[in-house]
Amino acid sequence: MNDPKQMYYEKRAQVLLKNLRSRHFEAYYCPDREQALAKALELIPEGASVGWGGAMSAQQIGLIDAVKAGNYRAIDRDTGVTPQEREALMKRCLTTDVFLCGANALSLDGQMVSIDGNGNRLAAIAYGPETVLVVAGMNKVCDTLEAAMTRARTVAAPMNKQRFPVQTPCEVTGACADCKSDGCICNQILITRNCKPAGRIQFILVGEDLGF
Ligand code: SF4
Repeated sequence: MNDPKQMYYEKRAQVLLKNLRSRHFEAYYCPDREQALAKALELIPEGASVGWGGAMSAQQIGLIDAVKAGNYRAIDRDTGVTPQEREALMKRCLTTDVFLCGANALSLDGQMVSIDGNGNRLAAIAYGPETVLVVAGMNKVCDTLEAAMTRARTVAAPMNKQRFPVQTPCEVTGACADCKSDGCICNQILITRNCKPAGRIQFILVGEDLGF
């Protein structure tokens, strides 16, 4: 018997693919991370400059490692030794051929909610890189935009914050307290409604739970 979760994800993906394409995004569905990795590498031209930010799902399917090892010009902010070098690399990511990222939440009608502390990922999604490639597990898909916003703020952000050292209320309790802390990772919130120019933002939806 097929896995009910897989069947559920597959059916929701068919609805989401149609709605994403109606908003001029390119979108693909891959049942598992192995096929998602193959699809992503098919979409990234050899020799392309590739940057990333907030890309846990891309990391989990092996895409970040594949880009670092492959015939691409990878721009990895973690290779910056000083804060200034790291900042300079983050800025270079805003003009790459391809920018890799995940989604904090998606609504079934095809909109993406993204939350950021520094805003570098949101800046790249909105404008700059030639192509933005979003890898998103189907666990990120919510029925409505309102539910997607709630997911991004009350699930994705508090879970993601556990990785960072500066303490915030959600790091202590696991629940968002709508903070204004120095360590807040929710300083900018972006809703991507449509893709302009058409096809600039490409989604690989994966029939697995990925990221936060
Ligand atoms: S407590 Fe602050 S950092 Fe944590 S999820 Fe809420 S707004 Fe974001």
